[in-house]
Amino acid sequence: MPLQIVRNDITKMKVDTIVNAANESLLGGGGVDGAIHRAAGPELLQECRTLGGCRTGQAKITKGYRLPAQYVIHTVGPVWRGGSHGEQALLVSAYRSSLELALACHCETVAFPLISSGVYGYPKDQALQVAVDTIGNFLLDHEMTVYLVIFDRAAYTIGNKRFADIAAYIDDRYVAEHTAPEEAYRQSVLFAPPMAAEPCRAVPEGLNQALSRLDESFSQMLLRKIDELGMTDAQCYKKANIDRKLFSKIRSDVHYKPSKPTAMAFAVALELPLGEARELLSKAGFAFSHASKFDIIVEYFIAHGNYNIFEINEALFAFDQSLLGG
Ligand code: ADP
Repeated sequence: MPLQIVRNDITKMKVDTIVNAANESLLGGGGVDGAIHRAAGPELLQECRTLGGCRTGQAKITKGYRLPAQYVIHTVGPVWRGGSHGEQALLVSAYRSSLELALACHCETVAFPLISSGVYGYPKDQALQVAVDTIGNFLLDHEMTVYLVIFDRAAYTIGNKRFADIAAYIDDRYVAEHTAPEEAYRQSVLFAPPMAAEPCRAVPEGLNQALSRLDESFSQMLLRKIDELGMTDAQCYKKANIDRKLFSKIRSDVHYKPSKPTAMAFAVALELPLGEARELLSKAGFAFSHASKFDIIVEYFIAHGNYNIFEINEALFAFDQSLLGG
């Protein structure tokens, strides 16, 4: 999955490069900077001394020393001064400069902390949105796996204003679900595990014929939609946050059975209205269930015509759900 939001300590990430939220001197500080220097060892500071600092919005690279990551990209985010001092542009630039530098150094996996959201005071929900949008846009044109590493999540979970609408949507659907027993029963039947198959003695008459009239498969519908919409394969799998290898598997296997998050990711990438999204899911044997927060959140975005997979993943993360993509 090209962009993943994870909860971790960035100094533990086994990636080609981690990114450090440094200050302009590059001579060490608190927060994530302090943690990275402690884990990398004193050689990191020695190399940083040779770099001559770094301006806000720009980035410089060093080795990772004792870190599991091979490199550290040091970038400087803006200090929050109310939001009208070019903070957003500088934060976008800090992410972009780091990504460009990672690309130039042939890094395929990169982990970012939430730059500026600690001591520098950028409101966490806005910092998260800038991070997700900027990384997401970059990944539309580049093959890379980027982790956004969130250390303390409390500030932008359900209490967050941006997610209040989604929380209400989930509540409404849950309430409806729990007051409609037939629907719950229907879902349980729909999702019941298959019964153990009896050894088959003779193929019932007509079954062979019925099997020969299989409907269009998931893969066929996906490829047809891509053609109809005039998209390229790459545009589609990137918008779905799916990597190229997985897409090639789906393309070359007409009966490929994707996971539910993958199937949903393609419904989002194709910007299918809810009816067609349901149809595509059903091709893979799935349905939107109102007994699942994951499903309700994705449905919420589709119903509101918001097909930005990175925003959807941000919301899924906030509600502790797995993310869309491969
Ligand atoms: P800034 O000065 O850019 O605000 P900080 O280091 O103060 O940088 O904080 C940036 C973000 O990094 C904060 O959200 C903080 O919670 C987070 N953070 C702190 N330590 C770690 C760590 N070890 N791994 C990942 N993120 C961390």
